[in-house]
Amino acid sequence: MTQTFTLNDGNTIPAVGFGVFRIPADGSTYTAVKEALAVGYRHIDTAQAYFNEKEVGQAIADSGLTREEIFVTTKLWLQDYAYDAAVNGLEVSLEKLGLDYIDLVLLHQPYGQVLDGWRALEEFKVAGKVKSIGVSNMTSKLWKEYVPRFKTLPAVNQVECHPYAQQKELRELLANDHVLIEAWGPLGQGNQNLLNNPTIVRLAEKYGKDVGQIILRFENQEGIIVLPKSTKPARIQSNLDIFSFKLTDEEIKELRALDKNQPTHNPDATGVGDWLLKNFDIHAND
Ligand code: NDP
Repeated sequence: MTQTFTLNDGNTIPAVGFGVFRIPADGSTYTAVKEALAVGYRHIDTAQAYFNEKEVGQAIADSGLTREEIFVTTKLWLQDYAYDAAVNGLEVSLEKLGLDYIDLVLLHQPYGQVLDGWRALEEFKVAGKVKSIGVSNMTSKLWKEYVPRFKTLPAVNQVECHPYAQQKELRELLANDHVLIEAWGPLGQGNQNLLNNPTIVRLAEKYGKDVGQIILRFENQEGIIVLPKSTKPARIQSNLDIFSFKLTDEEIKELRALDKNQPTHNPDATGVGDWLLKNFDIHAND
């Protein structure tokens, strides 16, 4: 059994999810998700804009696991935030994933018709087609702009989060409403400087673990849901194997001190929404 956290809507979510961003839909996503499910992941994080929902669904169907055993997240893309487009987009995701409900759906980016997209998510939740709903890439500024206008509080906010960008201010803000952070880029997206950090390397040696496991366990002990991505079977396995050791309070303090408060992505920057729309056209092949 993998560890779970409880969301503010009462549902539970496995604390470690398998991320599939940038895994191509050429059979690689199918292979990676199949492997992840075989070694014990019970939570998969995909998105419409990853163009690989169909392979995720196929791997789930072939896993031999029951629907209730697996937690699936997808994300609505910002091209589809107008209400009718959002409703249609959610139906398309259900179909591609081959599921009759999705555990968690997020608004992938906080731009454009956020309020309309959120309303569609709320209705899917009421209808039982989606169990939990959340947002992604909301800074404190964007959170304060949008969330007070939502009827339903998001269950999670999925943001870039790793030892060099620990999101302390945002985490404090969300903790008041028991909104959990999901860390994207939990391994710094493979940032070699982070993976060679002397403090992390020393802890890896002490516990006989690799640096990825130290980083993920740190985030986990901070109450953050982690979504490591890998296509390498050994790493798929090790990134889930983080519960056989526990960092001490002193070590957690040391790791907290590595924070540079420097995410690579700044959702508040001007023009991000337009740039994303230009670079991810989910309707290119419609
Ligand atoms: P990660 O931090 O998970 O890093 C993935 C990179 O690290 C890959 O290059 C991988 O290479 C490498 N890696 C994996 N495991 C290890 C390890 N143990 N030691 C060293 N290197 C390792 O970055 P992602 O960007 O993939 O983020 C994770 C997930 O978060 C995504 O897959 C996606 O689901 C989600 N996400 C969401 C975003 C959003 O806007 N909401 C944005 C970005 C990501 P290899 O495959 O060769 O092992």
